[in-house]
Amino acid sequence: MSALLDAALGYAARAIPVYPVHWPRPGWGEPSLACSCARGVLCDRPAKHPLVRHGIHDATCDPIQLERWWSRWPAANLGLATGIVFDALDVDGPAGLAALRQLARAANLRLPGPLVATGGGGWHCWFRPTGLGNRPPRGLAHMDWRGIGGCVLAPPSRHASGRPYRWLRGLDQAPLPEVPAALRALLDPDRPTTDRLAHPTGPADPDRPPAVGHPYGHRILADELAALGRATPGRRNRTLNRTAFKVYRYVAGGLLDDQEVTLAFTTAALAIGLSAAETARTLASARTAGLANPRTVPAGPVLSIREDGP
Ligand SMILES: [Zn+2]
Repeated sequence: MSALLDAALGYAARAIPVYPVHWPRPGWGEPSLACSCARGVLCDRPAKHPLVRHGIHDATCDPIQLERWWSRWPAANLGLATGIVFDALDVDGPAGLAALRQLARAANLRLPGPLVATGGGGWHCWFRPTGLGNRPPRGLAHMDWRGIGGCVLAPPSRHASGRPYRWLRGLDQAPLPEVPAALRALLDPDRPTTDRLAHPTGPADPDRPPAVGHPYGHRILADELAALGRATPGRRNRTLNRTAFKVYRYVAGGLLDDQEVTLAFTTAALAIGLSAAETARTLASARTAGLANPRTVPAGPVLSIREDGP
């Protein structure tokens, strides 16, 4: 049995639907590899597009069908449907890896689950399914989320460069983790905060603290991130300190999630050109000060959420 069919059956046994994808083959008279499709070296998605008509919609866990496909196309790459057994963070090439490493260091984000090195020099980080579709995480360049309706190529598929997809941490070595809350926050659709502010869910109960992820907190977070984005080059670090301090006060008040706020500010700070070291240092200081000065939803009707600075 070929390694490709063997792997296809292995994924199917884990209830991950599989479908066959074009593969790289030597181009005639060309030094580089060509796609196995009729367009050859001219293919714009070499070794990445489906061999079957409906692509991901034809994906199956049926071993008979898989054996049929891989006896017809023994070198076919393996496409896996995401959103069912797993979702994947698709980190694109060296630029994506550099961005992810910087983010992970600055925000203390850990990725403990199964991990694939793609043949194109990036990573696929596998997680338990979120129920979300395909979308780029907000503010993260060179990264994509593969969820419901999505797909990834899987080991031992080969990239058009000739390099194989391979496991850095296999499915037997690590369970599928939940998506870290901070990363999840960048994937959720934008919250309709204005609407929820205008229509509160019920009378305030003074004995019950407001829920983490309170709309008021998210509005403050969005406003302060926007203010940070507008900071002029000489004032970026100071603005990071001021805006993050204000938001961490609402973390202390129980309105926002600590990790989500840290990741959101880290992403925004790196995006405006602050270094990872500077960002981590400033955020740590703003966090300590903010957590020591809790704030919560103002009493009385919320007419305006603008407020005085710290
Ligand atoms: Zn092709």
